[in-house]
Amino acid sequence: DVVTRFAPSPTGFLHIGGARTALFNWLYARHHGGRMLLRIEDTDRERSTKAAIDAILEGLTWLGLDWDGDVVFQFARADRHRQVVEELLAAGRAYRCYATQEELVQMREQARAEGRPLRYDGRWRDRDPSEAPAGVKPVIRLRAPTEGETSVDDAVQGRVTWANRDLDDLVLLRSDGTPTYMLAVVVDDHDMGVTQIIRGDDHLTNAARQSQIFSALGWDIPRMAHIPLIHGADGAKLSKRHGALGVEAYRDLGYLPAALRNYLVRLGWSHGDQEVFSTEEMVAAFDLGAVGRSPARFDFAKLANLNGLYIRHAADADLVAAIETILPQVGPERGIPVPMGDDLRDKLTLAMPGLKERAKTLIELLDSAYYLTAVRPLAPDDKASALLSEEGRARIAAVLPALEALPDWSAAATEGAVRQFAEANGAKLGQIAQPLRAALTGRTTSPPLFDVMAVLGRTESLARLGDQVG
Ligand code: GLU
Repeated sequence: DVVTRFAPSPTGFLHIGGARTALFNWLYARHHGGRMLLRIEDTDRERSTKAAIDAILEGLTWLGLDWDGDVVFQFARADRHRQVVEELLAAGRAYRCYATQEELVQMREQARAEGRPLRYDGRWRDRDPSEAPAGVKPVIRLRAPTEGETSVDDAVQGRVTWANRDLDDLVLLRSDGTPTYMLAVVVDDHDMGVTQIIRGDDHLTNAARQSQIFSALGWDIPRMAHIPLIHGADGAKLSKRHGALGVEAYRDLGYLPAALRNYLVRLGWSHGDQEVFSTEEMVAAFDLGAVGRSPARFDFAKLANLNGLYIRHAADADLVAAIETILPQVGPERGIPVPMGDDLRDKLTLAMPGLKERAKTLIELLDSAYYLTAVRPLAPDDKASALLSEEGRARIAAVLPALEALPDWSAAATEGAVRQFAEANGAKLGQIAQPLRAALTGRTTSPPLFDVMAVLGRTESLARLGDQVG
């Protein structure tokens, strides 16, 4: 039975690297018919926040990465972590260390002077606690092996080996009785029945430490996979500057969860030269052996192109629904009512086949639908304003009666009327159509003009034209 887990620290939003880690855990579990668990590593009480926890849960939910069972909160398990340390003490696999602050500082300075990494020298490994100096509260350290090697057979990195003499006796319990992160991860992974760890390769050295703790406890070590971090297009580690935003930012920029999932799965994993994967295809094809060892590069243009592809293939009603989910964030600044109302929803759905051909994000989709979402009087952009000169407005005024007189407001009818008017007045169709478009849409490009009029309907169309005639 396969059990994976995603174990974010709630000290910030769910960033793009975390989302990819979650996706790989989710895919691996689903591929093997197993479970993915979610553990919130909230032991850093200063930096963990409720807002970050909410952002992580919402981000995973939006991305469609559902977890199995209840969320496990690490801090709430501190008693269990302490109990395990007691067991290690009783078994002689851990010991109390009474080294004072001054001694530790001295050790650090000596290491620095000799140009070697700081290692605790094990001075309390074999000393009797009766020799403890008064007033020093001990930490509890693992009695780690001093000889031989610790190896991890990593599904991505291969076999990675450390000399035990380079790994000192790590602290399991601090002097104030709080468990360390290293201990908590091991106990939780064991108690949650995790069989496969998948996480960023910045945790690779922790894997050695954690293996030692697993071994001291006589527990099975989960299989491990440390995946390369994501870098920006320039090859440097991904930062905010590169688009290392929270997933909610991608949502509000108008990316579809399916497109982001598809983009993320290809960051570090490949399956032949296939680029586009349905969720079912991803689940069927995913395996850790095909995760590369070099860092993947985050490419915004590629994400946008993939998103455009997903938009073109999405059902019209689904796109409208996706727009509605981000409307509270993006509607107000565009003057769009939230919720949008039945009338606008119907019109957007009707116009969607034309709109979705060109848009790479839902925001572009929404902005290209300005003629539908706008509220009178329209705010024409600069190019449209130029067409609504005195001359342009005079043309609108001249053609208006012919449109008002139409008994039927179909695209064919309005087109017929405008063509007839242009011919009768020796004008080119464009000379009439351009100012009409500017008045009706506030833009100089739009879907075909007479379709726009049909979608807007007679009353709204005539009112917008009337706004220009005054
Ligand atoms: N909480 C760690 C992090 O957010 C992950 C620890 C782990 O996966 O073992 O980086």
